[in-house]
Amino acid sequence: MIVLGIESSCDETAAAVVRDGRQVLSSVVASQVAVHHPYGGVVPELASRKHIEAIVPVVNGAIAEAGIDETRIDGVAVTQGPGLVGSLLVGFSFAKGFAYGHGIPWIGVDHLEGHINSVFLEPDPPPFPFVALLVSGGHTSIYHVTSHREFEPMGQTRDDAAGEAYDKVAKMLGLGYPGGMVIDRLAARGDSGKVFFTRPYLDKARFDFSFSGIKSAVGRYIQTHPDTYRDDQAHIAAGFQAAVVDVLAYKIIRAAGEKGCGHLAVVGGVAANRGLRDAITRDAAEKGITVHIPALDLCGDNAAMVAAVGYHRLKAGERAGMDDDVYSRVKFKP
Ligand code: ATP
Ligand code: MG
Ligand code: FE
Repeated sequence: MIVLGIESSCDETAAAVVRDGRQVLSSVVASQVAVHHPYGGVVPELASRKHIEAIVPVVNGAIAEAGIDETRIDGVAVTQGPGLVGSLLVGFSFAKGFAYGHGIPWIGVDHLEGHINSVFLEPDPPPFPFVALLVSGGHTSIYHVTSHREFEPMGQTRDDAAGEAYDKVAKMLGLGYPGGMVIDRLAARGDSGKVFFTRPYLDKARFDFSFSGIKSAVGRYIQTHPDTYRDDQAHIAAGFQAAVVDVLAYKIIRAAGEKGCGHLAVVGGVAANRGLRDAITRDAAEKGITVHIPALDLCGDNAAMVAAVGYHRLKAGERAGMDDDVYSRVKFKP
């Protein structure tokens, strides 16, 4: 079954063609970073307008890159939520129209369910059950995953998401938006022992997170070192990253232990983080746990992960209706 996936929940317009929920025939992502960069964050109204401009060329691009005629598409999967309503509506309405026009079934997909299923687009996906660390711009959660669609939430952040903390720290250091990748690169050049930040473990036996305190600690460091912090940027980035990575790695490996899982997954935009990938892979290996992290282009927002979820739902006979609507807030919570 060939599924066209469409994603427009935030500031990426994406389309992908995926065969049988596994084989990515094409994945096109149009980022709006340049549009929002001057504002230091995503401006919702601008995002909606850019999605409207991008959606047709992005979908056409994905179909062309897949090397198929659009009549070969068996179904459409589109992100229904959570995200910015104006942004979601562009992809969702387009998908409705595309499916109706071609007389094919379509389905709305949860964006977070998409991130979790992104590991199934890799050559060697995890067997069920496994534990997943979803670490992105809007969420930081751990799930016990028992099927493509069943996730038991084990814990989540009580305040900022990890990606949000990265973006805010980058902003404080004057490194622009979005900040994750910049901090990651800078951290590789710094010494994490030079500027120490307390690890926000909270209760070590539980799986909740808190990242707003460490973000404030970086802010305080900058305020109290006005003359030197610019020269020490790489050390600050390394110290911050080490603290965040230590907590994320500790909790997901502990979660695997608690559930007796020999496999764990790391998904979402922050899963692209070099320090995080290396630390989890190293620490999990010591415990005999296999780690699954998608390739870099499948960590951030993309439509292939949406198509992967859609495949299973369409195959199970699920169908969306013309009066279905988008939703802004997360559906599954601990
Ligand atoms: P959500 O998926 O929670 O709705 P989102 O879709 O906006 O939020 P993603 O696109 O999955 O989030 O991830 C974007 C986040 O990932 C941003 O906060 C960005 O700074 C962060 N990020 C990207 N690359 C890296 C990296 N190498 N290191 C750390 N963070 C990164
Ligand atoms: Mg984004
Ligand atoms: Fe996302």
